[in-house]
Amino acid sequence: MAMSLKGLSNTAGAGRAPIVLWLPLLVLCTALLMTYALWRESQDRGFKELQSNFSNSASDAVILVQQRIQSYEQILKALRGLFLSSNAVDRNEFKTFYASLDLVRNFPGIQGLAFVPLVRSAQKDQHIAAIRREGFAAYDIRPPGQRDIYAPVLFIEPFSGRNLRAFGFDIASETRRREALERARDTNSAAITARVELVQDDEHAPQAGFLILLPVYQHGAALASVEERRANLVGWVDAVIRIEDLMQGVLGNEAHNIDIEIFDSDKFSNQALLYDNDKLYRGDGGGGSKFQATHQLQVAGRTWTLLISSRTGFEKRLDAHKAQLIAMTGVFVSLLLALMTWILMRGRVQSLRAAQALQQELDARKEAEESLRTAALIYENSSEGMLVTDAQNHILAINPAFTRITGYTLDEVKGKNPNILSSGRHDPDFYEVMWHELNHTGRWQGEVWDRRKTGEIHAKHLTINTSHNEDGTVFRRVALFVDISDKKETEEIIWHQANYDELTQLPNRSMFLDRLAQEIKLAQRNNNQFALLFLDLDLFKEVNDTLGHQHGDELLIEAANRIKSCVRDTDTVARLGGDEFTVILSESASVERVAESILAALAAPYTLGEAVTYVSGSIGITLFPRDAKDAEGLLKNADQAMYVAKNMGRNSYSYFTSALQAAAMSRLHLISDMRDAIKQNQFIVHYQPIINLVTGQINKAEALVRWQHPKRGLVSPADFIPIAEEIGLISKIGDWVFHEAAQQAKRLRTLHHPEFQISVNKSPKQFRERGASHKTWLAYLEQMQLPGNSIAIEITEGLLLNTATDVTEKLHAYRAAGVAIAIDDFGTGYSSLAYLKRFDIDYLKIDRSFVRDIETDANDLALSRAIIVMAHALGLKVIAEGVESERQLDLLIEAGCDYAQGYYFAKPIAPDQFEALLQNGAEQQWQQRLAAKKT
Ligand code: C2E
Ligand code: MG
Ligand code: MG
Repeated sequence: MAMSLKGLSNTAGAGRAPIVLWLPLLVLCTALLMTYALWRESQDRGFKELQSNFSNSASDAVILVQQRIQSYEQILKALRGLFLSSNAVDRNEFKTFYASLDLVRNFPGIQGLAFVPLVRSAQKDQHIAAIRREGFAAYDIRPPGQRDIYAPVLFIEPFSGRNLRAFGFDIASETRRREALERARDTNSAAITARVELVQDDEHAPQAGFLILLPVYQHGAALASVEERRANLVGWVDAVIRIEDLMQGVLGNEAHNIDIEIFDSDKFSNQALLYDNDKLYRGDGGGGSKFQATHQLQVAGRTWTLLISSRTGFEKRLDAHKAQLIAMTGVFVSLLLALMTWILMRGRVQSLRAAQALQQELDARKEAEESLRTAALIYENSSEGMLVTDAQNHILAINPAFTRITGYTLDEVKGKNPNILSSGRHDPDFYEVMWHELNHTGRWQGEVWDRRKTGEIHAKHLTINTSHNEDGTVFRRVALFVDISDKKETEEIIWHQANYDELTQLPNRSMFLDRLAQEIKLAQRNNNQFALLFLDLDLFKEVNDTLGHQHGDELLIEAANRIKSCVRDTDTVARLGGDEFTVILSESASVERVAESILAALAAPYTLGEAVTYVSGSIGITLFPRDAKDAEGLLKNADQAMYVAKNMGRNSYSYFTSALQAAAMSRLHLISDMRDAIKQNQFIVHYQPIINLVTGQINKAEALVRWQHPKRGLVSPADFIPIAEEIGLISKIGDWVFHEAAQQAKRLRTLHHPEFQISVNKSPKQFRERGASHKTWLAYLEQMQLPGNSIAIEITEGLLLNTATDVTEKLHAYRAAGVAIAIDDFGTGYSSLAYLKRFDIDYLKIDRSFVRDIETDANDLALSRAIIVMAHALGLKVIAEGVESERQLDLLIEAGCDYAQGYYFAKPIAPDQFEALLQNGAEQQWQQRLAAKKT
């Protein structure tokens, strides 16, 4: 039942036009269609009927015309009989015969009957005289003039009125009449003229008419041939007929409804038009009649064409009332049927709807019952706590989950205000906002801190909904909540992970950027200045590489704590990653003091497991708003300033200055220029001699690269090597220098000394590279037929700290080939002699910074001496760098140093200068001076 009702409700539903409407519409359409068909049929029938009426009338008219013409012929034949029966018909006999015909009554249309004798020109006068003698003194043949023959009207009846005008008129004088005369004569039959103007009529109002002629021959004459007929012709009898009169009554009652046009031709043309009933020419289809018929008539030797057309009077019968009646009745019946159907359907649908509504109500009631039961189930079993209050905010009901979460039973809370759950964590504003929203929208949701019966504070997600009475007042409020303590905790963890560095627990880059943005806003508002510090630990990578990542991590944590201890709680210390830290100092006035204290804190020793290590920091400082007004600009500035600090020799801080910015720009240009420098052969190698302090011999030199920049002039390697290392160009440069140096070694070995050795600096970057540059270098030596010891490779101490097997292998490969290894800049890095033992090292190069102060600084002297003693103990030779004075030289010789290099002997110089220097006896000179010192 329910199914079928639902099915019907769909059909009558809102989606489509309901059956109540479309069924009546269908009935209406069908009935109207049928009406239309009936109406059409009736119209067709009417048309056909009228058509046949018309055809009948037309045929009748044609027959009548034909009959009339025939009857005229009959009369003429009778008249000719008169002439045949009598040798000489006189005027009185003619008159009597005419009278006997009672023409006017029996043959309408005949204007007159006449006899026309043939008068040859010779007989003319005699003829006229005879007639005049008859009593017609004025008789003459008209029109006057000489002609071959004459056919004057002699007798004409009725001989009165207009007919008198014809008396004496020569019919042969006029071409149309003469044509008929001759035709009648030659054919011995009736001939009809073309349309003529009748002599009887007034010249001013001539009427159209025609003559029918019949020849009269000599009684008993032979008439077989045309010649015989012409020879025996006596004259003609003729009937004069006005067309109007001929047509009189032909159409009977239809005279006004039907038009007849008669053409004296087999075609329609205005010239040939003999007669037109309504004077509306229709010959060429003019007049637009609905019905038309054409008949051709042979009348006394001529062809007449009759065009019969319906006139409006006739056509009006077509709009027959019958068709109209059918249409009107049909439409009426259709509407009636549709209306009835509609009424029927409406009744039916309404009753179905009522049944349906009843069913729906039953369904709804069932549904409501079920949902109530379901609600009760949910209420009982829900994991969400529920609480129902009345309009006065007194608790009415709670569910088991409420008790589970809060610890309160219904007895404990019934009738109480839900604020018994408040934790006191929210300020009064919070509840004010909540109540405001509840009162306005009837709903509130959010997170709240509440207190359990045990006193424990917990977080919940709470939704409150209001149910209203019909008058709009509050009926009940229902609060639903879930305990989200766990969620809160994980949220906090996730938030912390996203914003804090896991290792140091300092804010990470993302948090730092947030704080920086906040600080900028605050400073803008208060017109304040603040400082941003960018800090990088010096040589931290080495710690990581030597002591391992775990100790590296420990060092970072310790460093972070030390930095934090130098700033106020309100300042921000963040770790951007690696060994990079930032500090936001709200009080920029104390920035230098803070920077110094940070550097001091970082410089203290770190105990990492067994080892004690030192690191320092480099700090770049930038000020808001002086140096930049946005976070990005500030960070970039501080970073640049930090690099400057690093270049200043580490363990220092530097402010950002616009000069710094200029330097940064210049650096950028340098980078782009450097990429082209190799291709354009802008690098050159200078050589600095290394003197053997024992023998005074010069059989060593250091190859030092320079950049011949097209605009800047000679650029120092100190300026471009670090950049080349940074942008990955160092290996290309290194390889090139090596090739130059090997070639130079080859030259000097032949030119100067067979054991000559050239030192080449190899950047730790290139050394550590995964590629096999050591193999290509060694292969090149072989190719040049140079022994390994013609080259010494200078590396830095840091490289040795790297215990990666790769580095070790490469060092061994060089050593195996006989290439010497020198530790450059010794004393600036870790300066641990212990690891030197592990590698097979040939030379130590004491850094220039020790040599520089050796005269004045007792420490440096002591240190240099110690290095030399220990190096010798380990079997290494020592080269002192940067010897600039004789005093330094003396102290080094005294300390037992093996080799020296420095401006005191020679600056690094171009290869040709270097050769010149040797050729000019520089070696001998030094041998002598050193020998002199010994004695
Ligand atoms: P380095 O290897 O320690 O080279 C010695 C530096 O000290 C050279 O500086 C040299 O000109 C300078 N010097 C020598 N004697 C004196 C002196 O008496 N007084 C003073 N004030 N300086 C002296 P230079 O040529 O500017 O090179 C600087 C650094 O660039 C080199 O230090 C080396 O580390 C690097 N370098 C130079 N050429 C190359 C190279 O081809 N490859 C690599 N990787 N680094 C190179
Ligand atoms: Mg060097
Ligand atoms: Mg050096």
